[in-house]
Amino acid sequence: MEKLCLLEYTRDNLVQLMAELGHKPFRAAQLQEWIWKHRATSFEQMSNLPPALRAALDERFCLRALTVVEVNQSTTGATRKFLSRMADGHLVESVIIPAAVGQGGAHSDRITLCVSSQVGCAFGCRFCASGLLGFTRNLTASEILGQIVAAEEISGTRVDNLVFMGMGEPLANIDNLLTALTLIMDPHALNIGARHITISTSGNVPGLRRLAEFGKPLRLAVSLHGASDEVRSRVMPVNRKWPLGQLLPALEEWARTSKHKMTLEYILIEDVNAMMPEAARLARVARRLNAKVNLIPYNTVEGLPWVRPSEAHCRAFCKALIAAGIPVTMRYEKGHDINAACGQLRLRRMKEAE
Ligand code: SAH
Ligand code: SF4
Repeated sequence: MEKLCLLEYTRDNLVQLMAELGHKPFRAAQLQEWIWKHRATSFEQMSNLPPALRAALDERFCLRALTVVEVNQSTTGATRKFLSRMADGHLVESVIIPAAVGQGGAHSDRITLCVSSQVGCAFGCRFCASGLLGFTRNLTASEILGQIVAAEEISGTRVDNLVFMGMGEPLANIDNLLTALTLIMDPHALNIGARHITISTSGNVPGLRRLAEFGKPLRLAVSLHGASDEVRSRVMPVNRKWPLGQLLPALEEWARTSKHKMTLEYILIEDVNAMMPEAARLARVARRLNAKVNLIPYNTVEGLPWVRPSEAHCRAFCKALIAAGIPVTMRYEKGHDINAACGQLRLRRMKEAE
């Protein structure tokens, strides 16, 4: 039988487990300290737990759901991608992005981590390397949490900001996402504040409602990439399922209760969505949602036909939004934008693993 990973156990779950195993509730607090404060990797290390309890835990549970198999330093910046193997042999990628401070390109030791939420993705956006793979499976909450634990081990520092912009659609894995978020925010576990967590979605309407019901001041990024159904459906098949007529009201609802402005992600692709009239449409949507816009010049994905517009064209598109009064960010250089860094995860080694 495959062992369950304790990373995804909340304090309440641990209290219940202790009761099942015939131990007092205070053992749950001790166990949680070993897991999160000391980052124990074996039950043997848990010296203040009775040996019989350690043995009982060891029989049914493990403390890591994935093993890091490769760490790559990017050639374009200080980002580091790492690849982890899960119990069933599937691989998952995550990206460590140092936070830039000041104008001079100096870096602090604060890091943003981009995590994956699924192996592959069922949404099949036409520009996306993850979508090309098709869908394999959801990650468990422990596999999501395990990426953060691994990043902290690799970098030797705490993860300050977390973005769900890796492989997969987080809102299509909403149950495991909410469990992971509970532990990510728990002061007894990872203790990362909701305002330091960004969920990026391609517009999964039921998932968005569930996330809103969760009631935490998380940040939301929406992969819009088209401000009309015609343009959006061309590159995002998900738009046929939840067209703008459904998505925009759901986002308005989110904006009404959210503390933060949402970000509309917009990849600029030549002759698809980067024509100047689209900038006016995008500005209208952004105004309606009181959102900011992040323009991402398309990054070439091998095997896909799309073209990145010229820098001058991207700047003109950006200027049109600024002129319309929309807060907008754009980074033309490759590798500097968080999206550019983590939007292109692809399991290069998947074939080898099969
Ligand atoms: N499924 C979620 C989370 C993944 S985020 C979502 O789509 O929002 C991945 C981000 O990288 C998205 O904003 C996506 O649109 C972007 N991305 C994907 N392929 C890209 C490419 N070729 N160039 C630039 N950005 C890309
Ligand atoms: Fe999936 Fe997001 Fe890629 Fe679309 S952009 S295929 S939703 S990971």
